Amino acid sequence: MAIVENVVIIGSGPAGYTAAIYAARANLKPLMFEGFQAGGIPGGQLMTTTEVENFPGFPEGITGPKLMEQMKAQAVRWGTECYTEDVTEVDLSQRPFTVRSSEREVKAHSIIIATGATAKRLGLPGEDKYWSSGMSACAICDGASPIFKDQELVVVGGGDSAAEEAVYLTKYGSHVHLLVRRDEMRASKTMQDRVLSNPKITVHWNTQPVQVFGENGRLSGVKVKDRKTGEEKDLQVGGLFYAIGHTPNTQLFQGQLELDAVGYLVVQPRTVNTSVEGVYAAGDVQDHEYRQAITAAGTGCMAALSAERWLSANNLIQEYHQQQEERKQLTEEEEEKIPVETEENFDLSATRHYGGYALRKLFHEGDRLLMVKYVSPTCGPCRTLKPILNKVVDEYEGKIHFVEIDIEADPEIAQMGQVTGTPTVQFFHNKELVKDMKGVKQKSEYRQVIESYLPANVSK
Ligand SMILES: Cc1cc2nc3c(=O)[nH]c(=O)nc-3n(C[C@H](O)[C@H](O)[C@H](O)COP(=O)(O)OP(=O)(O)OC[C@H]3O[C@@H](n4cnc5c(N)ncnc54)[C@H](O)[C@@H]3O)c2cc1C
Repeated sequence: MAIVENVVIIGSGPAGYTAAIYAARANLKPLMFEGFQAGGIPGGQLMTTTEVENFPGFPEGITGPKLMEQMKAQAVRWGTECYTEDVTEVDLSQRPFTVRSSEREVKAHSIIIATGATAKRLGLPGEDKYWSSGMSACAICDGASPIFKDQELVVVGGGDSAAEEAVYLTKYGSHVHLLVRRDEMRASKTMQDRVLSNPKITVHWNTQPVQVFGENGRLSGVKVKDRKTGEEKDLQVGGLFYAIGHTPNTQLFQGQLELDAVGYLVVQPRTVNTSVEGVYAAGDVQDHEYRQAITAAGTGCMAALSAERWLSANNLIQEYHQQQEERKQLTEEEEEKIPVETEENFDLSATRHYGGYALRKLFHEGDRLLMVKYVSPTCGPCRTLKPILNKVVDEYEGKIHFVEIDIEADPEIAQMGQVTGTPTVQFFHNKELVKDMKGVKQKSEYRQVIESYLPANVSK
């Protein structure tokens, strides 16, 4: 007989991981689909921010990616089984429910939906052409890229994210223009003060972008319109960042669960119960009002407790008792840190390398396929990519060269590589760039490139 899971959790933001921690502690051995790229990234929205100053328990603040890493460690420690896959289909019409990803199909007695929300884009004329070549929805991920350095930049939006991103970008750009649709901002008073008192930021009230344009494949400006006067003008800028809010990730559930007019999952008042018994919704996917990590975590807790009670009331619980020795250690695995290489410690025969010196040497003297990963210190998706790429590089030990470049430490290398955002992975074969992959991809996509350039597969 096919195994039926007690509870399947969809989504790995604060709501999903908190639900997982509670469900795992209740011996339910939850199975989690962390997501991959359908509605954000594993770890959720906080992977795209720097400091989180308001999550209780961290008086000094904590970075978003670090907070999510810790939540995951806690969920895994108590026995959560995680798959870094997108759910592509659910069937809630029959019990047990069915949940499908591209890799597997699972049956579940209960489901916790924690799929959060995705950053919105405006779809301006020219956007498709210049997306990732000067346009981005994540200033925190991409702001350090050399193409934005000392450039005038635009941020679109009037909320907290827009304010935070505008301030953040003043570290890199020469000046930041904040386009606000109305004559006031939605951002908190503190964030507004930070923006308005910053001499490197100009706020354009009642203003919206209407078109983007560029040169040589890169964004070079944006046409903006004054919503009161109708007057249009061009801003010559090297970058445009959207910070205009989010759309709830509920497409999977349309027609199966009750959604409100803008697509949020509807839950019964003071609960996390959806319109189908045994299916719960936690976090931003059901909350258009508070949208905070702590409220997402709070509703994640409610969802796990509700699922446990419902399973118990219906005699469906299959308990798993984890042995002490099975429990994953909380201490982070000792990371193998490769030191930045210099003339003294560079070793051409090694597979893994770090830094600009190594890249130059490998480029000129290496005889293997060269894989270059560009990252920046604050980039959450770079952390997501790390274990994925580590696994792939391990598989090709001795057959490829791999080098990691921190674009903040080696800006001139990033400039030469024409890197427009992080993470970016480039492959060089015989000193020629043969593939440029932006963002986080499946392991199979990296393997495919490597395989096609292994000596046995390259036509002589
Ligand atoms: C730039 C920025 C800064 C912020 N700063 C703060 C802050 O300082 N403090 C604070 O409290 N809040 C902050 N927030 C808000 C906070 O990040 C969100 O409220 C919170 O992350 C919501 O958590 P969630 O678990 O509901 O969803 P999300 O964090 O959105 O996570 C959703 C998860 O679902 C997954 N998913 C989506 N679709 C699928 C699918 N089909 N299959 C499988 N998985 C799927 C995604 O991969 C992701 O892992 C910030 C948000 C942003 C964007």
